[in-house]
Amino acid sequence: MLSKVILQANIDKVETYFERAGKLVIVTHVSPDGDALGSSLGLYHFLSSQGKTVNVIVPNAFPDFLRWMPGAKDIIRYDKYAEFADKLIGEADVICCLDFNALSRIDKMSKVVGEAPGRKVMVDHHLDPEPFCNVTISHPEISSTSELVFRLICRMGCFDDISFEGAECIYTGMMTDTGGFTYNSNSREIYFIISELLSKGIDKDEIYRRVFNTYSEGRLRLMGYVLYEKMQVFAQFRSALIWLTKAEQGQFQYMKGDTEGFVNMPLQIKGICFSVFLREDTEKNMIKVSLRSVGKFPCNKVAAEFFNGGGHLNASGGEFYGTMDEAIELFKRALVKYENLLLQN
Ligand code: 5GP
Ligand code: MN
Repeated sequence: MLSKVILQANIDKVETYFERAGKLVIVTHVSPDGDALGSSLGLYHFLSSQGKTVNVIVPNAFPDFLRWMPGAKDIIRYDKYAEFADKLIGEADVICCLDFNALSRIDKMSKVVGEAPGRKVMVDHHLDPEPFCNVTISHPEISSTSELVFRLICRMGCFDDISFEGAECIYTGMMTDTGGFTYNSNSREIYFIISELLSKGIDKDEIYRRVFNTYSEGRLRLMGYVLYEKMQVFAQFRSALIWLTKAEQGQFQYMKGDTEGFVNMPLQIKGICFSVFLREDTEKNMIKVSLRSVGKFPCNKVAAEFFNGGGHLNASGGEFYGTMDEAIELFKRALVKYENLLLQN
């Protein structure tokens, strides 16, 4: 038996919204990751099974290694089909906001979603949710939004309506947001849920392979290049930095998702507890910042204070508008400012 994480009042409200709704839209954050897509598609398969008209809309492209996910082909990209998406969002009875806590995280979709007349339901696990939804199901203690979607469906009494496809999506999100169950994954109930998903016939080993072992040759060579040439270790601060320019990404035929996980690599070095990855974005004129930490060091604080971002204690992100040299300088200033916390960790 699972413990009751989501408040009963929230379950009741969502159930009523879903029952009354004919058209629903599911939206998730910019540059969707495994959990963003896993939770969105998991809910999409469930709602479709209830006879609803459902559309998943994402702000922009997602990585190649998630393209196999059941339902991924029907996802509408806002950067390509804004007009069509605006119509769907405007006409939706319910808008489900999955895996993000603030309208700014859906980029160009913020305005239309913010102003849409439909009821909004947030299901998310990031800290400090902004109050833009009628129902806010926000649980930072839960390691993935996909797990919350599983819990929501079960609490509505609909476990039997989770299909094989839905189970594959939910599992993918749970797996990716915990690095293949290597962090934030000590809750026993995660394994109970996995057991339930296995009962739907999913092949978890195959899902791992599809997500983590189907990269391009370019990605592997880029990884080698980064580790050899572009990783700077600041041992006295127990920290490391990696950075990549657009030109370097071009040299290795960069495709979206190719640098996924790079920021975690320096944390494999003994004693390193804070890692930052600066990457010139290939879509927007900015430097995308990814931050990771181990232990109690709050990388989300550094993200918020220095890089216009936020996120979780151990995994956060942000954006920097300026040159790479300036971003590196800012990182070094952050190290000095946070020296005590880094050394205490
Ligand atoms: P990643 O480094 O994988 O892009 O992001 C890791 C986590 O950081 C995400 O799950 C999200 O919580 C957070 N994050 C990433 N980018 C941003 C951003 O630009 N702003 C905020 N507030 N959070 C971000
Ligand atoms: Mn997530």
